[in-house]
Amino acid sequence: MFEADAPRKGICFVLAAPSGTGKTSLSRALLRADPNLSLSLSATTRPPRRGEENGLDYLFLSHAAFDAMLARGEFLEWAEIHGQRYGTPRDPVLAALKLGRDILFDIDWQGYRSLRAALPDDVVGIFILPPSLSELRARLEKRGDPEDEINRRMQAAYGELDHVREFDYVVLNQDFEAALRALRAIVAAERVATARQLWLDRWLKQAREDEFSRDPTRP
Ligand code: 5GP
Repeated sequence: MFEADAPRKGICFVLAAPSGTGKTSLSRALLRADPNLSLSLSATTRPPRRGEENGLDYLFLSHAAFDAMLARGEFLEWAEIHGQRYGTPRDPVLAALKLGRDILFDIDWQGYRSLRAALPDDVVGIFILPPSLSELRARLEKRGDPEDEINRRMQAAYGELDHVREFDYVVLNQDFEAALRALRAIVAAERVATARQLWLDRWLKQAREDEFSRDPTRP
């Protein structure tokens, strides 16, 4: 039988969506169901919100500490969003990919673009859409966000929709369970993509050797 520990490259799955689309609930459910998937920990200069923990939700950094990491080239990508800076530390991501572990990123479209440029073969982009923009507004209103905040988020949503075609997949979050099934199917399919199977050359070489030992006249 073929050796069991067949290595595969890890994959960076980027989930993007206008806020209020249900991305956080979907990503939590996806992470719970999948032990080989973990969430990337970003660094940010924004202060922690209530209940957020350093090292768990974000690495909360001073501007000086963020600058120092930036100067040392320690970010795989970074972006300025609403006057604060956010970045993905490089080393943990590269280490996970090497071990064949997959990482889920909750970053904006700018981050997705830069990540894709940095790791062209390893990034899969998934855009989650609400059933409609009026439904999105209704969800934000139900959440009780203030009117000007809702308008700001709706404005941001229009901006993000301009980038939907840069993503590999689009999932409509009309029904939570159906959207989750679609996400799990994407993850499963990307894991068996031919280019990611580092063991394939070895498998083919062994297959040729087996055939040759059975019938040495075969080319
Ligand atoms: P929040 O401050 O609400 O946690 O996040 C604000 C925005 O920053 C969200 O759109 C989130 O996806 C994005 N974000 C969080 N971490 C990163 C990161 O490391 N890089 C980039 N480019 N965006 C990020």
